[in-house]
Amino acid sequence: MADSMAQLSRSRDLDKLLLRPGHLVGPTFEPGPDLRDDLQQYARVLVVGAGGLGCELLKDLALSGFRNLEVIDMDRIEVSNLNRQFLFRLEDVGKPKAEVAAKRVMERVSGVNIVPHFCRIEDKELEFYNDFNIIVLGLDSIEARSYINAVACGFLEYDSDDKPREETIKPMVDGGTEGFKGHARIIVPGVTPCFECTIWLFPPQVKFPLCTLAETPRTAAHCIEYAHLIKWDEAVKRAELFGIPGVTYSLTQGVVKNIIPAIASTNAIISAACALETLKIATGCSKTLSNYLTYNGVEGLHTKVTEFLKDKDCLVCGPGILIELDTSVTLQKFIDLLEEHPKLLLSRASVSHHGKNLYMQAPPVLEEMTRSNLNLRLFDLMDKIPKDIIHVTGTTSKGDHKTSCLRKLRVVFKGIDGVTDMDMAGGA
Ligand SMILES: [Zn+2]
Repeated sequence: MADSMAQLSRSRDLDKLLLRPGHLVGPTFEPGPDLRDDLQQYARVLVVGAGGLGCELLKDLALSGFRNLEVIDMDRIEVSNLNRQFLFRLEDVGKPKAEVAAKRVMERVSGVNIVPHFCRIEDKELEFYNDFNIIVLGLDSIEARSYINAVACGFLEYDSDDKPREETIKPMVDGGTEGFKGHARIIVPGVTPCFECTIWLFPPQVKFPLCTLAETPRTAAHCIEYAHLIKWDEAVKRAELFGIPGVTYSLTQGVVKNIIPAIASTNAIISAACALETLKIATGCSKTLSNYLTYNGVEGLHTKVTEFLKDKDCLVCGPGILIELDTSVTLQKFIDLLEEHPKLLLSRASVSHHGKNLYMQAPPVLEEMTRSNLNLRLFDLMDKIPKDIIHVTGTTSKGDHKTSCLRKLRVVFKGIDGVTDMDMAGGA
């Protein structure tokens, strides 16, 4: 009884958005109870990350009428999470975040089903991600965002006029916070800029090789990092000598690297904005954010929406890097080419074609299963299609920093597409 009352009052608020027409609605919006039922029945949303933002997102989405949610996170709960990752309790420390978060929201919000995935985002097959209507990101790393962005953009196909094909668009909503600042943005691949189009928004990540710090320092930053990383014991002794308490490694990290604590209210505000955008994308009940909201609560409160533009040459959300090959090229030769290609420089590549694994570097069991393909012609492995999209994952290095990445390639086999000699001669 209490349950059905709670459901009724919950859908009452949602109904105000979904059952009535309005002036600010999206172009395809059709108000009515069917819309609410469809949202509950068919909309499938993946939340990436079950930390500060993820806990908020799951709760917000569940309370916004979404019923089919999944969450993926590789971390276990730590004591230091408990001040803001409010779904977790002291007895949960050490347990997987995704599993506990899913369980807690399902206990509190009746009717919602949340499937947890306790693993790395790279461990899932690409098709796993294709199963969702919307992907919502509650992450704290650029690498992870970049990866999911490439996965979602990888599904995008262009028609012959280079227009994105509607049914292949996988929208994402991305939230991020740093102390009292945060952002919420929507990424509609092929329509709005993707994460990679605006990667310049993030300051470069500075990391120094240890040998440079120890042997051949060249900059002031190298000296500071040397004291921080290598002379740590001596630094601690100095504090002891002068009787100064509190010189801990984490405080040093905070001072040197300007690490900012996560703030619960910022997470709540950013997640709310992201959940609302997700609801808008799923139902069309209002026009979506266009396309990047920044929030700053450092002094007072300031929010602003900026419309960023797509990078037309983007390697990730564009039509794909064109690679021309002879039909004789084997899969092994192709993988070698990826390593030398100036735009790719991709090592240890795994290759898939329309969800079928042609070669996988890992796990060992898949490597063994696909190894025999290496000597076969790529043209045959791609079902003799003269021109098609294939996906490759691998590692690429920037300086000393290796990141895993996914790239979409347009493979064209020379001498097959277009008019052949046989056609000219009127042959079969
Ligand atoms: Zn892009």
